[in-house]
Order: sequence, then C-alpha cells, then structure tokens
Amino acid sequence: MTAPDDILADARAALAPLRLPDGSALLGSARLTGPVVAGGRLSLAIAIAPDEAAAFAPLRAAAEGALRAIPGGAGAMVALTADRAAPPPDLAPARPAPPPAVLPGVAHVVAIASGKGGVGKSTTTVNLALALRARGLRVGILDADVHGPSLPTLLGLHGRPRVGADRRLVPLEAHGLKAMSMGLLVDAETAMVWRGPMVMSALTQMIAEVDWGRLDLLLVDMPPGTGDAQLAIAQGTPLAGAVIVSTPQDLALIDARRGIAMFRKVDVPILGLVENMAHFLCPDCGSRHDIFGAGGAEAEARRLGVPYLGAVPLTIELRVASDAGRPILARDPEGPLGQIYGQMAETLCRSLATAPRAAAG
Ligand code: ADP
Repeated sequence: MTAPDDILADARAALAPLRLPDGSALLGSARLTGPVVAGGRLSLAIAIAPDEAAAFAPLRAAAEGALRAIPGGAGAMVALTADRAAPPPDLAPARPAPPPAVLPGVAHVVAIASGKGGVGKSTTTVNLALALRARGLRVGILDADVHGPSLPTLLGLHGRPRVGADRRLVPLEAHGLKAMSMGLLVDAETAMVWRGPMVMSALTQMIAEVDWGRLDLLLVDMPPGTGDAQLAIAQGTPLAGAVIVSTPQDLALIDARRGIAMFRKVDVPILGLVENMAHFLCPDCGSRHDIFGAGGAEAEARRLGVPYLGAVPLTIELRVASDAGRPILARDPEGPLGQIYGQMAETLCRSLATAPRAAAG
C-alpha cells in the first residue's frame, strides 16, 4: 500500500503544471487548501468568489483528473468553495462569504430528506413540487438519490438530457416541472457499484452543471440517510432549508431525528416534517385506520421544534399513480391528496419567505 506521504508528494507533482485562470500556479496560491489525504482519498478546495464558478470549472476538472490518475489514491474530490473569500485578503468581507453561486437563477434550494429509504421521500418531493407549481411557482427537481434514482419513473421521463450551448445539461420537463436525475445519465447497474468518492464527484457535477434557468424553487431529492454524500450536498449547495419525510413508526422517527440533527449541525434550517403513510384510508369503506396510532409525529415535531407540514395517508391510488409515471397531483390536483399537499406547499412557502435566498430570482 502506498503511504499517505507518498500519495501527497505524487499529488503535488500532478498538480504542479496546473494554472489558475489568471495564469499563476495553483500550487502555492492562497486560494488552495490541500491536497489532503484521508483513507487513501485525496481532496482539495479552491477558494473562489461567487461569480468565478464558471471560469474555474475547467481547472476543477483538470485537478480532479490529475489526482485520480495517481496510483494508490482511492479517489479524488476537488471542490470550488466560496467559504473563504478570494484574494486579495484585505477585501475579505467581515461576515462569512455566501455559499458558492453553483445554482445561479435559482431563488431557493430546498432539500427533501429522510433518515432512511422507502419512507416516501421521492413521492413527497414530486407531489409537493406539483402543489408548488399549481401556486404559479417555477419548480425544478434534482434527484440526488444516486443509488436509487426514482424520478424518471415517478414523472414518466424518457431519453437522455441534451447538452446545451454552454456545455451544461438541459433538464427534462414533465407536468410543468424541470427535472434532472442520475437515472437519466447512467444505467442503474453502473450507479449501483459506485463507491463514495465517485458518488460525491457525480453529485457535485450534477448540482453545478445543470442549466436550470430561472427557478423559484429547486427541490433536491436527497439520498436516504445521513452519511458523507448527504453531508457533501448539505454543505456544497446553497440550501434555504430542508424538509424531513418520515413514517410515523418510532424507528423511522429516530432516523428522522438523525436527519434533523445533521442539517442543524451544518446550519441548514429545518422547514418542516412531513408524516407519510400516516394512516390507512380503506378504499372499500372509506374509513380511516390509524395503524401506527395518531398524533405521534406531530407531537414529535413540536418536541423537536420543527414545523409539522402535515400527514399523507397510505393510499393505493397514490402508489398506483406514482408507478404509472403520472403523479396523483397531476391526475387529480383538486382531490383530497391535492388538498393535503397544497396545504404543505402553503406552509413551506411561508417558511421560505423568511429564509435566506440563494440567488436573485
Ligand atoms: P423513498 O424516496 O423514501 O425511498 P418512495 O417515494 O420511492 O420512497 O416510496 C417508496 C414506495 O412507497 C413507492 O412504491 C411509493 O409509490 C410508495 N408510497 C410512498 N408514499 C406512499 C403513500 N402515502 N401511500 C401509498 N404508497 C406510498
């Protein structure tokens, strides 16, 4: 096995020829943090001003390529970050710099997250997006669930996204929403075997290299859980906040609590808790069955100090609509589920009105 010091020396040698857009060397620049090596993985950060993202994109790609080619390194990640102000240092703002302008034109980016998979996070994302769209907002969905992208199925998306004039990907459109998913870019088997660094790199690129145009809201369907990939998105994306989706079972709420704790740790406000599969609506008699008891999630939300956005019942029509690629809110926007998601959309908009904006809208 190659020692970390050897990997670092190789990394510095590989980075030596690289130049900043102004022609000066990357190595030795005040903009550079790293390279560092952890678990055989190399990473470095290049500080940029928010409007320099496009100019530095080729350097980021070149640095990542150079680091990946190093024998003994399990992977590489190169981040452009506006966490630190770009030189000259005397012009540095007194308060922390805003997050990188990776999503220009998007007014609010909201993560839809869950502590574990299968709780209905993607279903919630799509129907909430449609409810927001019905309120006249321009909405996009980024499916960041690299290992289990379900957006193409839920929205009935087909074909590959085309590459636009500025070499950025053009999102697909369905039911008035813009949409991008790893499931549209690589086949399922390929993404399944990706390891951590490849997932991170794919996510970073997918977030930065899609031309969303002007959006009021971009919903990011997060990968389930609270690991490195989730943290990378939470830190690398200018999130206005996060919505947590949970089923009412205690276990799921424990996972949900973990999700809430992760966002709080990186100062992302929790905009609300959605309780999915809260109760069962019998299709035959229309009666309601509180299989997991009633009111538990709402009480838990209150205890955690997060807004309760509402309860979505377990219904066959919701699942059938999702599987058919025509979400229930596209089929029946005025129906009972339309009312529920509509209410959530209203509460979310109210929370967002007081949240910081990612970019001018
Ligand atoms: P996640 O994104 O959390 O993995 P999904 O949204 O993909 O979860 O949902 C998992 C499965 O449960 C899907 O088959 C979906 O159609 C179904 N499902 C989600 N929410 C509901 C609900 N409220 N009623 C019925 N089926 C649901």
